[in-house]
Amino acid sequence: YSVGIIYGVICNLPRNERFKLSNILTIALIPGPNESSLHYINHYLALIVDQLLELWNGIELSGTYENTNKPIRAAVICCSCDIPAARKLCLCGYISVYVACHRCLKKAQFNDQNQPNFGRFDNIDKWFVERDINQVRKNAQEWLECKTKDAKSLHIRDISVHWSEMYRLSYFDSVRFLIIDPIHCLFLGIAKWIVLQLRTINTKRMQNRTKLIKVPADIGRIPYRIDTGEGFSGFTADQWKNFILVYATTITWDLLRESDRAILANFVHACDILVCRTISINGLEEAHKWLLTMIKLIEQNYGPEKISPNLHLYLHICHCALDYGPLYAFWCFSYERMNGLLDKYNKNQFTFKYFHLLKTIIKTK
Ligand SMILES: [Zn+2]
Repeated sequence: YSVGIIYGVICNLPRNERFKLSNILTIALIPGPNESSLHYINHYLALIVDQLLELWNGIELSGTYENTNKPIRAAVICCSCDIPAARKLCLCGYISVYVACHRCLKKAQFNDQNQPNFGRFDNIDKWFVERDINQVRKNAQEWLECKTKDAKSLHIRDISVHWSEMYRLSYFDSVRFLIIDPIHCLFLGIAKWIVLQLRTINTKRMQNRTKLIKVPADIGRIPYRIDTGEGFSGFTADQWKNFILVYATTITWDLLRESDRAILANFVHACDILVCRTISINGLEEAHKWLLTMIKLIEQNYGPEKISPNLHLYLHICHCALDYGPLYAFWCFSYERMNGLLDKYNKNQFTFKYFHLLKTIIKTK
């Protein structure tokens, strides 16, 4: 059973207030039992976009602290999610991240099994260029104007762009506003991949080494159980972050091949910079160089088919940080906590009431 949730935060709030559970807005619960496929999510988005349009045009808030009406305007400035959600939420108006990157001109290559990869860096100057949002919008509009299902499919095959209700927001820039959440991109992506290379290594030995490392109490959740039968399968994103930053090099170094050491070292260097609370532009440039070197090393050692869409998106992390600040200002750790909270509500019928409310709202519309 799969339920989709769309959260919102108010970016005017300072970061330490913004992600408090009491300040996170639960904007939509998309009921299961299955995930809505691609552009069908537009049916849910339409309702949200109607309200976003009102907010963009301006509304009066009553009952403010000063007891006077206060005019406000609001706009969506960033959509942070994982790749599957990106394909639905914004992708619906987007170029499919499995076929081509939504930010730059890179297109996927396909191997004999029809699996996409984003390898080959010899011509990076040609494709590492930001897409023209006006062209993307034009392509999405053309999809909308296709009269038949076949015509729509043909358009997707050729242009790889769907319509998204988000395009009703005149200011919405799908190229820059859509970012792949750094915790999914960095820590559930490459960290997991690196560790999969270690599958053959005795995880019990690694766990024993982990226990020998004493860390400060405020470091967050630490990975106690590496040796869980299937290796690291139970790790949360937060544990992956700590594993990479604190433990990875220390406990795996002598167990890794020379080439894997170089990959891990580049990754840890980049993460070290990216997870800081303040980042300089020079720091971002440096992190980008570490990540680019790491991806090239992966291609050299494991072939272009290992360069997944997720790995390609690493190349854009530093651009996202230039737009939105340090990664901790826009990663989705807090939403994961909110998911846990909503999960608990399920036990006292909250979800049932919420769905009932959602159904009522849809009917009223
Ligand atoms: Zn790209």
